[in-house]
Amino acid sequence: MTTLPKFSFGVGDRFARQGPAQLRAFELLKKDGFEAAAVWNKSFREHGITGTKPESVREEADAAVRAAGWKGPYFVDADHINLGNVDGFIAASDFFTLDVADFVGKPDPDAPAFASRHAGPDGKPVEVALAGGLPPIRADRADIERAAGKFLAAVKEAGRIYRRIEKAKGVGNFICEVSMDETDQAQSPTELYFILAMVAEEGIPAQTIAPKFTGRFNKGVDYVGDVAGFSREFESDVAVAAAAAKAFNLPANLKLSVHSGSDKFAIYPAIRRACGKFGAGVHVKTAGTTWLEEVGALAAAGGDGLTAAKEIYAEAYTHCDELAKPYAAVIDIVPAKLPKPDEVAGWSGEEFAAALRHDPANPGYNPSLRQLIHIGYKAAAKMGPRYQALLERYAEPIGAAVTDNLYRRHMRLLFLEA
Ligand SMILES: [Zn+2]
Repeated sequence: MTTLPKFSFGVGDRFARQGPAQLRAFELLKKDGFEAAAVWNKSFREHGITGTKPESVREEADAAVRAAGWKGPYFVDADHINLGNVDGFIAASDFFTLDVADFVGKPDPDAPAFASRHAGPDGKPVEVALAGGLPPIRADRADIERAAGKFLAAVKEAGRIYRRIEKAKGVGNFICEVSMDETDQAQSPTELYFILAMVAEEGIPAQTIAPKFTGRFNKGVDYVGDVAGFSREFESDVAVAAAAAKAFNLPANLKLSVHSGSDKFAIYPAIRRACGKFGAGVHVKTAGTTWLEEVGALAAAGGDGLTAAKEIYAEAYTHCDELAKPYAAVIDIVPAKLPKPDEVAGWSGEEFAAALRHDPANPGYNPSLRQLIHIGYKAAAKMGPRYQALLERYAEPIGAAVTDNLYRRHMRLLFLEA
């Protein structure tokens, strides 16, 4: 049975070069006495924009693991796939993130029957005890039917995708995640409990579930929202996942998957505390800012590196609307805050890097510019071999930046620091 370890963290990057530098961060973490599995992920969306195929992620992962001498567990995640595109991922992947967000809210005729199966006897509400001194979940028949009305169609779609993969790969030969994170509305802990009941009824052996949490999870910038509220919600979700795994006979290692969009430093301590309190694991799907580390290191290097960084910005600026479209739910770019490419053309490497780097204490930091470059990797893809040659020439400073970013800013905060 392919089992996801307790702690796992995303890796991989737009241009498939930084795997060994990322694995160095996992090695440093291991030296601190903490082991996490590395999960390469690249979505259908990313493949489309960079012009790559799922097989390339498998090749990249295997090659990086060989090059780094990584002995720990690693996986290749077909990230945010659906029934329409899953087939292309089946051979290369052993982890599948079934994205059914588009089906949330679609009515399902079986919702009343689901509610009847899960409602308390004699019209009494159901009560589910939660660990950690949290108040129990209470839901009456109407609450359950409402949850089914919102999520049953989506979970059934996940079931269809799961069975398609299972038919090709065989039971137990892959990890399965159900994701509903790219929606507007957060799911409450009570809803999560019944979503997991639906997942179990569909026969999906989910090892991770990615709900939409309260607050904004914009790409490459920090969490926007009420951190204390997130902390309470996350604790409840962790307790709900444990209770649901037991009640519905889901895999015992079922855990939450946080599609962080990267750099959610404000909530990492809350995640670390909740995992500690409940002895729970977590999967954090990030690594996305590796591409930004590349651009930042190129800019800081000056010369042709800086020229390329400015070109990438100018190109992304020109195509801002088009680039932003597929990411509408997960970015908040303020167009008025974007400097004109003419202005950026006059910047030094340091000025460029300061605007790009996620350091709120730096007055030069510009979150709109950072988000635009985050989604602007098509500009580098268009440069083709020229961009690849730059990555080769500046491999050392870029690799150092990638390792440092992942280890010091992400992993330490998420897994170690008190
Ligand atoms: Zn996601």
